[in-house]
Amino acid sequence: IIHIDHVTKSYGSFTVLKDLCFSVMPGEKLALIGPSGSGKTTILRTLMTLERIDSGVIRVDGDYLFHMERNGRLVPADEAHLHRMRAKIGMVFQLFNLFPHKTVLENVTLAPMLTKGVRKADAQRRAMELLEMVGMAGKANSMPAALSGGQKQRVAIARALALQPRIMLFDEVTSALDPELVEEVLNVMRMLGTQTDMTMLLVTHEMSFAHDFADRVLFFDRGRIVEEGPPGDIFTNPRNERTQTFLKKII
Ligand code: ATP
Repeated sequence: IIHIDHVTKSYGSFTVLKDLCFSVMPGEKLALIGPSGSGKTTILRTLMTLERIDSGVIRVDGDYLFHMERNGRLVPADEAHLHRMRAKIGMVFQLFNLFPHKTVLENVTLAPMLTKGVRKADAQRRAMELLEMVGMAGKANSMPAALSGGQKQRVAIARALALQPRIMLFDEVTSALDPELVEEVLNVMRMLGTQTDMTMLLVTHEMSFAHDFADRVLFFDRGRIVEEGPPGDIFTNPRNERTQTFLKKII
């Protein structure tokens, strides 16, 4: 469902993604791990079109992400195309990014109403189902500031799901949470993993969660994938020296 083909990206003279290639199967749960600064977050932001790439191509769900086909040639995508592509993907950020002046319910209904023209009553019905699913229906009329970090993050997940994406990206969604709140967010992700066929990519430092949840783990170092495989292999028997060093430090 995702094909990343020879993608390179630099910030000034710093190359953050180096000739990166990998694919993700529909429904796959993929964990991206590796040292800080290795480019993991940049990949998620790129898939969400929050960052552009310098070279290479990305295809998502059968379409080019940053290109369009015109008369048999690939041309840069226009805003309308990027907009369509963005709707296939939902993203949850480390720092929630809820709209602070909107209620929980409004946070979840806004995007479907604005971007898809969904009627208010329908958006609200769907939002309440999603809030129910993440255990937040009781807080539908609260403001984000009144919620704990774990609650905010569960609302952020419901908001991302409201556009019915086929792919969900989770960027260190538990890193900013107090330890006792981590589990309630991981539980929602587990539930999505078992009850939907959504494709899920997560950047995480929660190694035991990645071990139990992911179908496949990619280990990044300095803008490249240096090792990949099923979690059982990567975590118990890493072959690459850098993976070994990283895991020794973190586990
Ligand atoms: P972390 O776990 O710290 O988030 P990461 O593997 O997700 O690490 P990225 O966030 O993708 O790494 O960042 C890779 C590098 O790119 C970092 O060194 C960061 O400082 C740099 N970087 C990220 N965004 C920008 C930017 N907008 N301008 C310049 N440099 C940036």
